[in-house]
Amino acid sequence: MNTQEYIALEDQYNARNYQPLDVVLTRGNGVWVEDVEGRRYMDFLAAYSALNQGHCHPRIVKVMVEQAAKLALTSRAFRNDQLPLLAKELCELTGYEMMLPMNTGAEAVETAIKAARKWGYRIKGVPEDRARVIACYGNFHGRTITIVSFSPEEQYRDGFGPFTPGFTLIPYGEAEALEAAITPHTVAFLVEPIQGESGVVVPPPGYLRQVRDICNRHNILLILDEIQSGLGRTGRLLAADHEGVRGDMVTLGKALSGGMYPVSAVLASREVLGVFQPGDHGSTYGGNPLACAVAREALKVLVEEKLVERAAELGEYMLARLRQITSPHIQKVRGKGLWAGIVLKPEAGGARRFCEALLERGLLCKETHWNVIRLAPPLVITKDQIDWAVERLEEVLQMP
Ligand SMILES: *Cc1c(COP(=O)(O)O)cnc(C)c1O
Repeated sequence: MNTQEYIALEDQYNARNYQPLDVVLTRGNGVWVEDVEGRRYMDFLAAYSALNQGHCHPRIVKVMVEQAAKLALTSRAFRNDQLPLLAKELCELTGYEMMLPMNTGAEAVETAIKAARKWGYRIKGVPEDRARVIACYGNFHGRTITIVSFSPEEQYRDGFGPFTPGFTLIPYGEAEALEAAITPHTVAFLVEPIQGESGVVVPPPGYLRQVRDICNRHNILLILDEIQSGLGRTGRLLAADHEGVRGDMVTLGKALSGGMYPVSAVLASREVLGVFQPGDHGSTYGGNPLACAVAREALKVLVEEKLVERAAELGEYMLARLRQITSPHIQKVRGKGLWAGIVLKPEAGGARRFCEALLERGLLCKETHWNVIRLAPPLVITKDQIDWAVERLEEVLQMP
């Protein structure tokens, strides 16, 4: 079958909840992918940072195949020999006391919200059913009904109500707005250290330290959603490490499995995750031995291949090169580590046409918020490969 035939089939039988670029991929290795026509592309999106370790990392593939042949799923009705090891290794790596494993990022966020509410009632003493969580304009935390209940994106909510109450939105990057929004019923502030879907929006320096201090003073939990920003993307293990800030809860997903399998987790203190009693919360696949073995190896690859350090070093290089591009279309380049948003001027006509032109030249990236080209290559990328990609970006950004 050729590209057009695959597209026709997908459009006939698969719900159209996405508008993908018309390239049909069939294999991947490191930063490279290949389509069904045998054309090669460099992946500069890395599945929104799920592929920090690169496509089909041989070490993770090996562990996945071996574990799949040995024991894949027990359910949490029984224990397995991989979950305790992942829990220990992930907590030791990040310095948090406990974890709770789930599958998708949205489930990790839902879990954090449930924990925050229960903590509010049981420990803080908020009256039953009155707990409120503060989140930010420009947020992206997933697609469940509760999460889109506080999405500022009209399209994410349109037609999906009624919504879950108990959320307040404030501007991102303004610590005073948090202080002003807190009430006696506030249990948590949920925030991305850098807003990914919003177009790699980096808050002002000191923001996370300020919100940490405000949360301490008002006895509310700081929940850092590091599903996209965490695990090396910004040049530190967690993006909040840049400011030396620790959350009361941290959500991880995406690169936690190196792109092999949905694995997510909530990290927190014993006090916070201790609010869950047996039966309070769960997931059939959450913490399964296949997921845990894959996540353990994905974390080992991150550490042993020094991908975090690599993102810091090459990220600086990539951002410097991007900022040197002269183009009539660029308004500014934002970013941290190997993560950047090229913000186009309103008159550039949107980012999609540039992404389509890049596809023609063998570079895969995706627009976000119509006027931002988001760049997030696998962290295994080399300097030469960055040069190759930047040359193509320079070329398309000269288009009329
Ligand atoms: C991707 C993402 C999520 C949702 O993860 P899914 O696995 O798609 O449910 C949540 N928060 C952030 C910051 C994300 O980037």
